[in-house]
Amino acid sequence: MTEDQKCSHKKETSTKQGACAANHKSDAESLDEFLEQQALEQQMGRIRHKILVMSGKGGVGKSTVAANLAISLALAGKRVGLLDVDIHGPSIPKMLKLDDAAVQVKDGVIQPVEKAGLKVMSIGFLLQDRDDAVIWRGPMKMGVIKQFLKDVDWGDLDYLVIDSPPGTGDEPLSVCQLAAPVDGAVIVTTPQDVATADVRRSINFCQQLELPVLGVVENMSGFVCPKCGTITDIFKSGGGERMAADMGVPFLGRIPLDPAVAQACDDGQPFVYHYSGTETAKAFEYVIAPILSLSGQDKETQANRTSKREESIMKIAIPLADGKLCMHFGHCEQFALVDADEKTKQITGQKMLTPPPHEPGVLPKWLHEQGANVIIAGGMGQHAQTLFAENGIKVVVGAPAELPEQLVSQYLAGTLVSGTNVCDH
Ligand code: ADP
Repeated sequence: MTEDQKCSHKKETSTKQGACAANHKSDAESLDEFLEQQALEQQMGRIRHKILVMSGKGGVGKSTVAANLAISLALAGKRVGLLDVDIHGPSIPKMLKLDDAAVQVKDGVIQPVEKAGLKVMSIGFLLQDRDDAVIWRGPMKMGVIKQFLKDVDWGDLDYLVIDSPPGTGDEPLSVCQLAAPVDGAVIVTTPQDVATADVRRSINFCQQLELPVLGVVENMSGFVCPKCGTITDIFKSGGGERMAADMGVPFLGRIPLDPAVAQACDDGQPFVYHYSGTETAKAFEYVIAPILSLSGQDKETQANRTSKREESIMKIAIPLADGKLCMHFGHCEQFALVDADEKTKQITGQKMLTPPPHEPGVLPKWLHEQGANVIIAGGMGQHAQTLFAENGIKVVVGAPAELPEQLVSQYLAGTLVSGTNVCDH
């Protein structure tokens, strides 16, 4: 690694980065280049946190972690973008069932594809045939990554999660240079790979770039029995934690090998939406907690303190019959819409709403318009769950027929017992 490479990755202010870049400018550098750099800095300045997800090698669940990390952040009320720079094997489109998504350009600006409350961009959207191999050399890769960062209409984001290809090649390097300052990297490994040189190489790469390692995630750690939910360690687990300690980086947690994760990926259904409340979803929540707390470390102005207070207000919708949770979601008489403060775990308000007449697809749109971001239900069909996910609303199914305020209090305290999905139509 040369000093030239390193200097632009340091967590410096944009002024310092600008000055650093200026040192390397030749006299012949064009105005276009200068304006391009300015546009890039302006775009990146609108994104509060950038997180790079890396792994030493392929197949360890890096994209799965990146996608679920992004969705978990969105479920926590954050504005989130997901950028897939895995140029040789983009898997985010498939994971989010966006195989057929086409990128639109509005007024010369590339529009990200919106899904499950995320703004998503992937090289996969630009390939005519998704199975095409892309043969690009380093500078071309850097060019396309620059375009993704500079020309995509990300708007104001709390987090941009960047899924980079396995290894320590051009892509993570370009991201660090172009999106500086990047908050840090999440390194995904498996129990079998934890001791390999690949993982250590990823950590060394970050250290050389002075890119903080936010932590190591040990994925596929223990097997979740699809019948009884018991977790059995197949490979020796705990190595990730030891390795992280040895290398002086944080350990974020373990995610079990769960057939439901693989199924959700295959079906293009974001796991943490559809399986909330399961042990595996809780494992994802545990892993993102330190990343969520990054936003608490911001220097806050009064204005963004207010907007953060607003962000922590949850609106929880509960279908009712006779004042208690109604087991048949589509046939309820009323909805309770309960306001709660996610941080203080207090209920701050409640109102009753009469839903529009039952028709397929009406309730997700209507509840979205009412501002609901969580639904506690007894039972709900799979299709409706997908529609809610697409409207950025988290669904908890299998809740008991109790009063709305009791359910919300239990939900906030993390003690809501969600059983089986009693109604699947
Ligand atoms: P990578 O990005 O590291 O190449 P992927 O995220 O594409 O890996 O995951 C590879 C495969 O492993 C996918 O089929 C995915 O569904 C599956 N997978 C990832 N994590 C888990 C998990 N915790 N449990 C079960 N399957 C998983």
